[in-house]
Amino acid sequence: MSTQKIFLFDFDGVIVDGMYEYWHSSLLACEKYLNSPYISVDQKLYKRVPNTFKEIRPWVKYGWEMILIVHELIKTENPIINKDDFINNYHQNCQKILKDNSWISEDLQKILDKSRKYQIEKDFETWVNLHNPFFEVINCIEELKKREVKAGIITTKGKIFAEKILKQFNIYPEFIFGYESGTKIKIAEKLTQNYEILGFIEDRKKTLIDIKENAETSHIPCYLADWGYLKESDRYNLNEIKLLKLKNLENLVAI
Ligand SMILES: [Mg+2]
Repeated sequence: MSTQKIFLFDFDGVIVDGMYEYWHSSLLACEKYLNSPYISVDQKLYKRVPNTFKEIRPWVKYGWEMILIVHELIKTENPIINKDDFINNYHQNCQKILKDNSWISEDLQKILDKSRKYQIEKDFETWVNLHNPFFEVINCIEELKKREVKAGIITTKGKIFAEKILKQFNIYPEFIFGYESGTKIKIAEKLTQNYEILGFIEDRKKTLIDIKENAETSHIPCYLADWGYLKESDRYNLNEIKLLKLKNLENLVAI
């Protein structure tokens, strides 16, 4: 049995704040690849991320949902005005919009990836600069490395995009699993066979609850990133999950 130690990190909302990039790439995907008759993209829209988009972001699990949200926000007729109605039935609303437009989620994910690839080829620097790293987390990964603890990234983003951004910060984790690798819980389950997992930092509470409720992974210490894209209600009733603040990352590394 291996005793290789590893610490797991989610990517979006934990290592980087990519809010501007999510908006930018999703809007570009809508403009270039979606072919929707209900929108016309004004270039001014790229300048500022609407608050409604920021407010809905904590409900997003997969990238394709962002394309759908941007589309609903910029539609010429009946755009989302009341975000509460939308998020109160978030999952059902997403499914309904897919159906009404005859979209399939995989295709939306493909055009989001395509939009990112397009920007990377055109001007990598500009694209990468749309992300703001949380330097405390970058330092934490470096500190762990000094202590011979490896870092693993589990994200619902495409692997190549997370990889390119991390490289920019000089971070080369032991592995990066993207959405292509399946659910986070399955990935964590597999990893427990070969690693001693010292912790998992994630900003999606439901993912951490699933980890805690699964017999194979329930021993993993789970931390909810206070600095990530949280819903207000996420901060309460955490049970075995710890709410972690950026300033307390240092103590965590000192294990
Ligand atoms: Mg996240």
